[in-house]
Amino acid sequence: MLNIVLFGPPGAGKGTQAEKLQQKYGILHLSTGEVIRQEMNRGSELGRLAAQQMEGGKLASDELVLGIIENYLQEHRTAPGVIFDGFPRTLPQAEAFDSMLKKIGTQVTVMLALDVPDEVVTERILTRGKTSGRADDQSLETIQNRIAVYKKQTAVVADFYKKQDKFRAVNGVGTIDEIFDRLCAAIDALR
Ligand code: AMP
Repeated sequence: MLNIVLFGPPGAGKGTQAEKLQQKYGILHLSTGEVIRQEMNRGSELGRLAAQQMEGGKLASDELVLGIIENYLQEHRTAPGVIFDGFPRTLPQAEAFDSMLKKIGTQVTVMLALDVPDEVVTERILTRGKTSGRADDQSLETIQNRIAVYKKQTAVVADFYKKQDKFRAVNGVGTIDEIFDRLCAAIDALR
């Protein structure tokens, strides 16, 4: 399996790039944020719990997110590969993820980390907020909190993959196509 962890701060363009990568490489795309938003829109128990946990731009709990991943892996055991977008976001998630993948005889192939300065992601999220309908894209305070949470809880996940020699930084500034070409070059260099 080609298991890609697409990493980077909120607003780095992970969702946009994941859609394009999915098409080019014929693999699946799992966005934990998207699954959570769908659950919230459906008004499910999981969605309600997540909404409480995420208030003000905080992360959902590891337990909740790992449950989503576990289910997904069960359902897609035979997939040729998956782009994990927005996961893992904490060290415990990365560790648990390694064990889960090992159990099904696979592993993370590579972490592709989009490198984008704070000012650029803030601007991108505010622009996205005009059309995305996402409550967490609307307020500058929530956006700044999400960036702070990324630095405090999520950035360390990069070190986890650096230690395994799976980390590849990709310049995330430029046009969608320019960034896509850089990601593809990083993937093709693995083969
Ligand atoms: P995203 O769509 O990736 O920007 O995620 C939107 C929100 O969903 C985040 O700000 C978190 O509150 C929550 N979320 C998504 N993925 C995770 C994760 N792996 N761990 C914890 N919370 C997550």
